[in-house]
Amino acid sequence: MVDRSSYSDRTLKCRDCSGDFIWTAGEQAFFREKGLQNIPVRCPECRAARKVEMGVKPPVQHQVICAECGAHTTVPFVPRQGRPVYCGPCYSQAQDDGTHSEESVELHADS
Ligand SMILES: [Zn+2]
Ligand SMILES: [Zn+2]
Repeated sequence: MVDRSSYSDRTLKCRDCSGDFIWTAGEQAFFREKGLQNIPVRCPECRAARKVEMGVKPPVQHQVICAECGAHTTVPFVPRQGRPVYCGPCYSQAQDDGTHSEESVELHADS
């Protein structure tokens, strides 16, 4: 058994964000028990961020046909039944048209 009381918290510098983080006595004992030679080089936040980064998968693309021009295109979401899906150019055009149809709201100052 490793005597955990022989360890004390150490302050280490993170390789990624250059921030200080605490390598706790408990973690040091854990490392020694596992026979690990390398001390942590990243703070817990950056370690967690790296894990998330490595686990990220690109969104699944779905084959669709543009409701406007009939071109084959892909979208990063599942198209819903009855809802038109557009290719890139048609989509941005539809967005533009949408802004024109919106009525501007006039503000009246009550007196
Ligand atoms: Zn960091
Ligand atoms: Zn189109």
